[in-house]
Amino acid sequence: MFDALFLEQADQMAKLVSLPDDALPAEEVTVRVHWSGLNYKDALAMTGRGPVVRSWPMVPGIDFAGVVERSASPDFSVGQEVMLNGWGVGEKHWGGFAQKACVPGAWLLPLPHGLSGQQAMALGTAGFTAMLSVQALVREGVEPAHGPVLVTGATGGVGSVAVMLLAQMGYEVVAVTGRLEEQAYLHQLGATEVLARSHFEMPSRPLEKARWAGAVDVVGGQVLASVCASMKQQGVVAACGLAGGMDFPATVAPFILRGVTLVGIDSVMCPQAVRRQAWARLAEQVNKTLLAGMTRVIPLADVPVVATELLDGKVRGRVVVEVR
Ligand code: NAP
Repeated sequence: MFDALFLEQADQMAKLVSLPDDALPAEEVTVRVHWSGLNYKDALAMTGRGPVVRSWPMVPGIDFAGVVERSASPDFSVGQEVMLNGWGVGEKHWGGFAQKACVPGAWLLPLPHGLSGQQAMALGTAGFTAMLSVQALVREGVEPAHGPVLVTGATGGVGSVAVMLLAQMGYEVVAVTGRLEEQAYLHQLGATEVLARSHFEMPSRPLEKARWAGAVDVVGGQVLASVCASMKQQGVVAACGLAGGMDFPATVAPFILRGVTLVGIDSVMCPQAVRRQAWARLAEQVNKTLLAGMTRVIPLADVPVVATELLDGKVRGRVVVEVR
């Protein structure tokens, strides 16, 4: 038997239940889950506020870290420390808010050298997405000397890790937040300046004053449109989220008059080789003290309540779920 958060249908809250082992999906590798992360998508799934779950009933949790208990995969052995994020886990396939998960070996990664399971989930899908976004800026040629780099939704999971990573890499980071009372937190992560989100929520002109060499946007909607309009010549925007909306009320002006590049970030179906490399970079680069400071640990039973807080914008940084 194992404990799991169980979602039976879209309009009901998840229940903490005890399930028999043979209820698990029949896949190659069974993992005894020790840690999971609470991500924005999990909060949508848990509260039914977004159509995340595509197969019922569902055990939510889009990432997890733990130890292999049974393996029919040549790539993983019993007792090995592993982790997983994405691949539709917690959406189409039972996920990490359970003491056991059963998944194809091709979706698993060995726990990156230098990270504990708890640290891997303190980063979780959000930290991984922040790293993919930062790597996109670097790949597209944004250098610290080109000027300030903007991070929106900066007090959230993706935003906090992006601020920390970019600051460590020598960029001048300007954080955008709806919570100006969190300025000290953002400066501690390395932001040099903190701007109110409200400046970016008003309809923008096709081109605004050119200020940013790069940007990581987790908000979407008007904020993303305003960010694009205020990019410098050849600026690069990594768009990874929709916390403020799915629409994109922009014009083509920044793209055709300033050569701005808009890069989309997808953590779910990201190829395995890219994952391994991004996780290795996270393990190397992340400041473990700052990571611990931005992380709150909760038990499985508290996930439904904290999921609601997260969607209400009351959670700062990352939430790790202690599952074992
Ligand atoms: P999070 O921890 O909840 O952070 C989201 C942040 O966005 C909040 O802390 C808040 O920051 C800001 N925000 C919240 N509600 C808002 C609103 N109504 N309007 C404008 N800003 C708002 O979530 P997360 O884990 O960082 O995820 C952020 C976004 O990235 C989500 O949309 C998520 O789905 C997306 N995401 C995408 C991928 C991918 O593969 N593309 C992967 C992970 C996450 P401030 O209070 O500082 O403004």
